[in-house]
Amino acid sequence: MSLPSPWRADFPAFAAFGRDCQTYLDSAATAQKPQAVLDALLGYYAGGAANVHRAQHAPGERATLAFEGARAKVAAWLNADSASQIVFTRGATESLNLLAYGLEHLFAAGEQIAVSALEHHANLLPWQQLAQRRGLELLVLPLDAAGDIDLEQAERLIGPRTRLLAVSQLSNVLGRWQPLEALLALARARGALSVVDGAQGAVHGRHDLQALACDFYVFSAHKLYGPDGLGVLYGRPRALERLRHWQFGGEMVQQADYHEAHFRPAPLGFEAGTPAIGAAIAFGAALDYLEGLDGEAVAAHEAALHARLLAGLRAFDGLRLLAEPHTALASFVVEGVHNADLSQLLAEQGVAVRAGQHCAMPLLRRLGLPGALRVSLGLYSEGDDLERFFAALHHALALLR
Ligand SMILES: *Cc1c(COP(=O)(O)O)cnc(C)c1O
Repeated sequence: MSLPSPWRADFPAFAAFGRDCQTYLDSAATAQKPQAVLDALLGYYAGGAANVHRAQHAPGERATLAFEGARAKVAAWLNADSASQIVFTRGATESLNLLAYGLEHLFAAGEQIAVSALEHHANLLPWQQLAQRRGLELLVLPLDAAGDIDLEQAERLIGPRTRLLAVSQLSNVLGRWQPLEALLALARARGALSVVDGAQGAVHGRHDLQALACDFYVFSAHKLYGPDGLGVLYGRPRALERLRHWQFGGEMVQQADYHEAHFRPAPLGFEAGTPAIGAAIAFGAALDYLEGLDGEAVAAHEAALHARLLAGLRAFDGLRLLAEPHTALASFVVEGVHNADLSQLLAEQGVAVRAGQHCAMPLLRRLGLPGALRVSLGLYSEGDDLERFFAALHHALALLR
């Protein structure tokens, strides 16, 4: 029962990691990249870089084809109707900021934006700042005892003044799938736009965005085995039409004169300046790589590892899980031990986990905790990683207690 990952060898980082990091259990912060992604990134630059959408020369045409090909792969991955629904950004964070600026004109003073108590800062602060700019009310949907957005309370709180709902699909702290279908149905019934933060959700399982029926969906490539510096904003055509342009410059403009300009629709209208061409192409390779795997085998491997992780954690005295996670990660505290001391001692033993507030300070405060440790898995994680982590945790706790 050592649960080896059949895909481990596809990720060169594991051969490169030395004694200082033999155990990488921080994939929810960023994932390692398969060789296919590195090859695509290097292949684009080594083959001759060129800007997209403007040159008639051969390298420019090649770059444009590959870049737009990557957009089509993202659209197919999400089962979007059309590649024009996929806007490339710098990351989930930029996608959410784009939305908070691009939708600003729709709000009048006194209206509401609803978020939940478990949001990552990236899906809280852009809305909080928009609310401050426009004199809006930020509704914070409370959690139930399990750590999920409380549907009864949401039903009561979301009303006709609520113009937008922005919630996570999968919590990066609690590891629980949120009741999205019900929340999205509620938003629709109240006439509110919906934004789903898929930064964690997109990594675990495939989601059909036509079935999910949200207006906007965002995630980052780097957590889905792709390069950093690239994010995705998916929008329904009717929702994208309501977005105002937010960054201005080359590429996004149709007609410009000194005193006025006309802008392109999505996606190019929201991709001002030179995009992350190499990163987009490499992300296309990441999706090709994932397409080539047996999705059910990946899910089964992750589920078996996750069960092992939870069972192992439960064997430690005084260790408390923040919630019962559904998948991929576990956050916990140990009685009488500071999370930063513990993660330091784990790091010294070559075990990389995450400690602190996980970009969700209000949630940790609500839980009454200064911070917590988080162990998170990728498809390349394996049983031996967990065994080394448990041994290191045992050793660290023996020193600290
Ligand atoms: C990581 C994360 C983000 C932000 O992603 P970036 O890649 O840092 O822009 C937003 N929401 C959740 C739930 C995340 O886990």
